[in-house]
Amino acid sequence: MRLILLGAPGAGKGTVAKMLTAVDGSVQISTGDMLRAAVKEGTDLGKKAEAAMKAGDLVSDDLIMGIMEARLQEDACKAGFLLDGFPRTIPQAEALKGLLGRLDIKLDAAVNLNVSREVILDRLTTRRTCVDCGAIYNVKSAPTKVGGVCDKCGGKVVQRDDETEEAISNRLDVYNAKTAPLVDFYRGEGMLLDVNATSSDTVVAAIRQHIGH
Ligand code: AMP
Repeated sequence: MRLILLGAPGAGKGTVAKMLTAVDGSVQISTGDMLRAAVKEGTDLGKKAEAAMKAGDLVSDDLIMGIMEARLQEDACKAGFLLDGFPRTIPQAEALKGLLGRLDIKLDAAVNLNVSREVILDRLTTRRTCVDCGAIYNVKSAPTKVGGVCDKCGGKVVQRDDETEEAISNRLDVYNAKTAPLVDFYRGEGMLLDVNATSSDTVVAAIRQHIGH
């Protein structure tokens, strides 16, 4: 399947993407994960992206399109892909449309994961992430077996720099200003699937029913 997953930070895009990869071997493409890896490795891209990420602001459209053009042409994406956290602005959506046209790739849908601000704030302030493998935990609903240690790889599990209350509040403002307009953009393209995302299982079922997988 080839999907765009839209929704505010904390709406569950990453969780849903991981669940969908098991359905047909489609790959999850998370621009946030790619950028965090670049920051950790100290690459040029990482150095350019770091300050904006830490503040909860967006990285420039040019940098993002540079990494996505290369990524979408990798062999692994031939089985399908789930775009998680991209596109994030109207210029990115327009550029993606042009790129997919050139590559002759058709998307199945753009799925909008709807969740209340209350649920999002609660999810993000309690979310913890493994610095080594990126596994996601939650101090309330899915804690690590041993405090601060990843169950999967033994890495350190921490609160992300951009998951302090101040950065979260900025990320939600940035989402409303820059990313929320994509819902109307994809509705206009006749591609939008709007789902209630309080439960990830329900989202996955709605997507599978919609695209017939
Ligand atoms: P995420 O893990 O998707 O919430 O992304 C974490 C951070 O990476 C965001 O707050 C942005 O600073 C940056 N980022 C991720 N994806 C994009 C994108 N498509 N465009 C611009 N910035 C992005």
